[in-house]
Amino acid sequence: MKRYRISIIFIFFSIVLLISGYNKFGNSSIDGAKPVGAEEVVDPCDYNRVIHQLQELGFRGKIIATLEDRKQMAQDYGNRVKKIPPLSLAPVSALDVSIVVTAARTQKCQIVTRGTGHALDGQSQSDKAIILITRDLLLPSGKTVEVLTRAGRKVARLSSGQKWYDAVTKLYDYGLRPVVFLEIPGLSVGGTLSVGGIGYGSHQFGLQIDTVTQLTAVDGLGKIRDCAPKGYNKEASMDDRFCESLLGGQGQFGVITSAEIEVTSAKPYIHVKKEVEPDLDHFLDKMESAASNWNVFELFGYITYDQEPRYVVSVGITSDSPTPTDPLDTVSPFLLYVKKLEYATAVDYNSSGRTPYSPAWLNLLVSDRAKFSAIFRSNPELMKTLQGNDFFMIVPIKGPRLHHDSLLQSVTENPGTGTFVIHLDQIRSDFNTSEELRKRNAKLLEVFVAPPFDGRRYWIDDLPRGPKLWELNFGAYYDRVRANKIASDPDMVFRPFPFLFTPN
Ligand SMILES: Cc1cc2nc3c(=O)[nH]c(=O)nc-3n(C[C@H](O)[C@H](O)[C@H](O)COP(=O)(O)OP(=O)(O)OC[C@H]3O[C@@H](n4cnc5c(N)ncnc54)[C@H](O)[C@@H]3O)c2cc1C
Repeated sequence: MKRYRISIIFIFFSIVLLISGYNKFGNSSIDGAKPVGAEEVVDPCDYNRVIHQLQELGFRGKIIATLEDRKQMAQDYGNRVKKIPPLSLAPVSALDVSIVVTAARTQKCQIVTRGTGHALDGQSQSDKAIILITRDLLLPSGKTVEVLTRAGRKVARLSSGQKWYDAVTKLYDYGLRPVVFLEIPGLSVGGTLSVGGIGYGSHQFGLQIDTVTQLTAVDGLGKIRDCAPKGYNKEASMDDRFCESLLGGQGQFGVITSAEIEVTSAKPYIHVKKEVEPDLDHFLDKMESAASNWNVFELFGYITYDQEPRYVVSVGITSDSPTPTDPLDTVSPFLLYVKKLEYATAVDYNSSGRTPYSPAWLNLLVSDRAKFSAIFRSNPELMKTLQGNDFFMIVPIKGPRLHHDSLLQSVTENPGTGTFVIHLDQIRSDFNTSEELRKRNAKLLEVFVAPPFDGRRYWIDDLPRGPKLWELNFGAYYDRVRANKIASDPDMVFRPFPFLFTPN
């Protein structure tokens, strides 16, 4: 009996030791499918000393320390997570960001970078970290937008905290626009480059991160670094691995302070035409032919469901002329168009303030049309799940990119094929409680990841996540992602979300 008791005590202490010795880079044996915000971590940071050190090091940005001001950082678009940060800082330059990282490191603090806070699950919030607001960041020239020529091609350099709307408005004065442009232009440049960025032009150019030619960012050691993704001209010292981590890196590898992106000429008008197709085959035909038309700027396919599915394809073509070729076309001047989208975002935001909900924002990426049609034909229930103004976009992925390679494994297996993205951000009127939505989402995902669909998903909606799930998602690339984290942020200054490396 005594031996039995000793064994129990031994096992108990072994478990305690195992838990307390848990490596901060994660242990793949733990599935951290923990609800967001459930962690209880002791915060070793002395925020007053951080402020003191910032002043000593010549920080020029804003120090936001009053409770009233900090409360404004305790919200996001999802409106479910509310964490008041102990300190918020709004740096104005890459040097300022470097000072913040240095002070945070010295005082054992963590940092969460925040763009416009449009995330759903508290990605840009924390009550145990400094919130670094990118809003006031400027380029070294003091501007927010510059146009330069690299290898004979025009590119735009953008400060990362500005909204796409502001960047597009300024670029328009140069007669230019980004090749991939968001449906919601009120998001920050750095924020969308940290998740991928899908929108107008994606059917031709892929994700926004596929159009980045160079980045400037501050790593977890406080070093200001320039990097260029693979395939772009770069100086010898530039580091591909750092760039591949930052793009789609959810703020876990560094703070992007500015980005250079591909641009194209901005015509002043867009002719938009919506057509209803009789069935799925015609719908897919239309989407595919529109995707291969170089003049198409906007391409959305909607499937709405009311007793029967209704297949709508919306195609927008940029034009120099305000006169539509077809009397059924609607015409929008480009900037007005951008403004209209901005307005739509504001309306969404207000409604999110009233009702706690989680809009399902879900991109499902699959390799080819055959799989896509098969899943729809064999799952009539799925069509009902997609009721509302849901749309599908065809997105050919431009080149392999670390995060997307793994998330889009099926695409790399079938090079050259199109990818379908399913975008469900407008179904909230049907599901205004997150619990209900969570169940629907979970069900939807189950269907999509099952054979023959085998889609890899790129989610930012409300589903359990954890190192184990990320590991599964990244597959063979997980070790590389982990190695990149250790190289760029060995002290884990950038607070990980959503639990890419740790269970909390
Ligand atoms: C309803 C809805 C619709 C959406 N539609 C689209 C869409 O059509 N296309 C699309 O691409 N995305 C879409 N998104 C996703 C959106 O792009 C991301 O939520 C994006 O991160 C928001 O940008 P933000 O500036 O608000 O970032 P935040 O919410 O402030 O931050 C998001 C993440 O990025 C990190 N981050 C922010 N800035 C930086 C930086 N400078 N350096 C490093 N890390 C940084 C943060 O730490 C955080 O992890 C949608 C989201 C919702 C909720």
